[in-house]
Amino acid sequence: MNIHEYQAKALLKGYGAPVAEGVAILKVEEAEAAAKSLPGPLYVVKSQIHAGGRGKGKFKELSPESKGGVRLAKSIDEVVAHAKEMLGHTLVTAQTGDAGKQVNRLYIEDGADIARELYCSLLVDRSVGRVAFVVSTEGGMDIEAVAHDTPEKIHTIAIDPETGVTAADVAAISKALQLDGAAAEDAKSLFPALYKAFNEKDMALLEVNPLIVMKDGHLRVLDAKMSFDGNALFRHDDVKLLRDETEEDAKEIEASKWDLAYVALDGNIGCMVNGAGLAMATMDIIKLYGKEPANFCDVGGGAGKEKVAAAFKIITADPKVEGILVNIFGGIMKCDVIAEGVIAAVKEVGLKVPLVVRLEGTNVELGKKILNESGLAITAADDLDDAAKKIVAAIKG
Ligand code: GDP
Ligand code: MG
Repeated sequence: MNIHEYQAKALLKGYGAPVAEGVAILKVEEAEAAAKSLPGPLYVVKSQIHAGGRGKGKFKELSPESKGGVRLAKSIDEVVAHAKEMLGHTLVTAQTGDAGKQVNRLYIEDGADIARELYCSLLVDRSVGRVAFVVSTEGGMDIEAVAHDTPEKIHTIAIDPETGVTAADVAAISKALQLDGAAAEDAKSLFPALYKAFNEKDMALLEVNPLIVMKDGHLRVLDAKMSFDGNALFRHDDVKLLRDETEEDAKEIEASKWDLAYVALDGNIGCMVNGAGLAMATMDIIKLYGKEPANFCDVGGGAGKEKVAAAFKIITADPKVEGILVNIFGGIMKCDVIAEGVIAAVKEVGLKVPLVVRLEGTNVELGKKILNESGLAITAADDLDDAAKKIVAAIKG
């Protein structure tokens, strides 16, 4: 689960991290009061969407010469003018896809005088089984290019969970970031604080890009991207409250209500599967036969008829779906339950696209019988290969 920059900054502030003062607003009329509450004379007007690359992004409705989704303002009038241009408009960045995202919220922030822009993130480094800092002196808006062209400028410092961030770790990070003076002093509390926040809140990613050294020599968290481990959300009611469902895929929200794992993709074959391994194999074989999956919905091990029906409805609700492949191995899950769920869903929402079903495992004969006797236009498949060939052939028409 992702949250907005302004929420991430508020959370980090609670851990003592240096962040600027700021006010989140939803309406243009709130911009003036928000700016007046800040010290000035420099302000930043920042689009709050769940995607990065805002600074270099462009608003769809505005001319290509107009400024991006993060703008500096030198007066309160300028803040208001930016707010008018940005709110309600669609920002397209390298991370939003062509459709872009509507900006419904702005964060008006006290502007900083920047001396250097650094990169700092925390993530779970599975290769060493530890939370690691990934840092670079080359922070700002082109970190992807840095990682690609000059990977030696990116340093990884993994933290021992037994000790947490030690003085030696801080020294290693500070050296990698070439910090000295006030910044090196700030580092002693900032990096342990980031690590503490990451662990206590069960984050999956915390990215501060840029972390800046200001002209006065101090560090400041200038941007913050935070994403949480969905499997740990149950123990963080405070984090759950930060969810902004308008930023999420409606089908993924519906799926999470049913405890289904749904992932939207770019192709046009909808996939209902059970188990992540079978999901991967199903997608691979669809690609092998020359098509791309539109999504996959993993119904898991012990789904009942209602859950299967909900999954089917979520898959068919995607207008990109030109055909559906149901590929289930009935272990704990019984094939007849799958068959009944599929039929219930088809009866409710109709079937406008070809449907190929491949069942194997517990009660497979009964499952096939139920499908065959349903009178619905369902193509049965014998194995994974056969199923993939049949659905690809069906959508090629
Ligand atoms: P992103 O493009 O979505 O990553 O948004 P950021 O919050 O990282 O802002 C993009 C860029 O805007 C930063 O890399 C800075 O160069 C600039 N910027 C953001 N806030 C300030 C500020 O307070 N002062 C100055 N001078 N520049 C800022
Ligand atoms: Mg940034």
